[in-house]
Amino acid sequence: MSMNLVTLLYLVASVCFIQALKGLSHPTTSIRGNIFGMTGMAIAVLTTIALIHGQARSLNVDFGTGIAYVLAAVVVGGGLGAFMANKVEMTKMPELVAFMHSMIGLAAVFIGVAAVAEPWAFGITAAPVAALIGARTPDGAVILDGFVRYAIPAGNRLELFLGAAIGAITFSGSVIAFGKLSGKYKFRLFQGAPVQFSGQHMLNLVLGLLTVALGLVFVFTESWPAFFAMLALAFVMGVLIIIPIGGADMPVVVSMLNSYSGWAAAGIGFSLNNAMLIVAGSLVGSSGAILSYIMCKAMNRSFFNVILGGFGGEAATTGGAAKEQRPVKTGSADDAAFVLGNAETVVIVPGYGLAVARAQHAVKELAAKLTEKGITVKYAIHPVAGRMPGHMNVLLAEAEVPYDQVFEMEDINGEFGQADVAIILGANDVVNPAAHTKGSPIYGMPILEAYKAKTVIVNKRSMAAGYAGLDNELFYMDKTMMVFGDAKKVVEDMGKAIE
Ligand code: NDP
Repeated sequence: MSMNLVTLLYLVASVCFIQALKGLSHPTTSIRGNIFGMTGMAIAVLTTIALIHGQARSLNVDFGTGIAYVLAAVVVGGGLGAFMANKVEMTKMPELVAFMHSMIGLAAVFIGVAAVAEPWAFGITAAPVAALIGARTPDGAVILDGFVRYAIPAGNRLELFLGAAIGAITFSGSVIAFGKLSGKYKFRLFQGAPVQFSGQHMLNLVLGLLTVALGLVFVFTESWPAFFAMLALAFVMGVLIIIPIGGADMPVVVSMLNSYSGWAAAGIGFSLNNAMLIVAGSLVGSSGAILSYIMCKAMNRSFFNVILGGFGGEAATTGGAAKEQRPVKTGSADDAAFVLGNAETVVIVPGYGLAVARAQHAVKELAAKLTEKGITVKYAIHPVAGRMPGHMNVLLAEAEVPYDQVFEMEDINGEFGQADVAIILGANDVVNPAAHTKGSPIYGMPILEAYKAKTVIVNKRSMAAGYAGLDNELFYMDKTMMVFGDAKKVVEDMGKAIE
């Protein structure tokens, strides 16, 4: 395959990836976005195999064995990915993403090590090192101490250092993020609570400087021991950077690691002189960075505040108990159905609890029954409702909720004042008016202003706090009716009562 054709096909794949990102930004276009992504990836993989075939022929290397390894990796990796993606619950999605990032990081490290060991096999135009002893191989390299040695150009060494170091940080950081998100493991570092000790930031700074110093030693001297020592430090740094961050901030961290994995791939792409890897890596790197920014903004946290950690400890991640024992108005599903049935406008606020209860289909049924009665139903989506960006949109899309009923925060907030009922299903922090109170940990976080509705119905299982570990004044308001119970059961009961 000619290089011009390879470049053209890579360009087509890049356009597909850009279209994929564009499509994934809205539920109505997300399926199209996915199809673009899959098409781009198929073109990229097939073109790369054709490229390797051409390179193998020109280097007189056996292509068959190499391609067998590639195909085996595609079958095993693709099969495992398909199996996991099919099995994973919506609430466990961030863990799956963290796991995948760890794999991308590890892949970048492996490619970096392999490229340092055998640069010529990666298309790096490395010159054989001249030596006084040893024979020459057919392609002109010198066999020295039983090993073929090549001098990698300094520019490539810099790219390899950066790609492998970022890959190592991404790998170990993602493993810790995975453990913290799953909350299943007893190991201290995998607990949701931040792990903090004095001098932590200083230690991270020193290790960071040492990693850079060792990387530069590799760049200037091509020293293998320096490269491996740098990698070892980068693995340790990945762990140290993530452990002080609480479980509540992990989705932001996952999106940040997503960005790192992209930059690692782009760095390796420069070393391997592969335009596709550079473009795809840059797209992942920049979209991950933008997403991290959007999430921080939606939580009114600065990026550094998240990275320096400490927020979202044990109580927050496991839903700590409410701080006060104050009376609240409670009601049954039947009571709530009565209120809903008499409303003209109802705004549904879904939250993490709705996802846990898998109540999305029941909610859609309930909304359909209300709509049949001539009641206007709208869904209000907070940008960080749930445990990952777009969590609620995906849930509602899965239940085939009509898109024209789904509104983003900035579009619906003005309507709560006119709504007869705001019904909050398994949401807490995203409707917490504490965000308007100076001194509150969530002060300044934009919230859905459900408290402005004429009547508020809140469904959750208990008075336990949400992810941020805070009590919610909304639950104690005169106009609020608490309906305790699992969201799916309560919503189904409301549906039956409305019938
Ligand atoms: P919250 O975690 O604040 O509240 C969820 C509520 O659901 C809990 O109070 C819980 O109360 C209730 N619940 C749990 N299970 C059920 C069930 N089976 N049935 C009924 N209710 C249930 O979720 P929100 O969606 O309001 O807020 C999201 C939080 O996550 C925010 O703090 C946000 O900052 C954070 N976050 C989100 C990110 C994102 O990208 N989406 C990223 C980073 C953080 P109870 O136990 O009493 O039932």
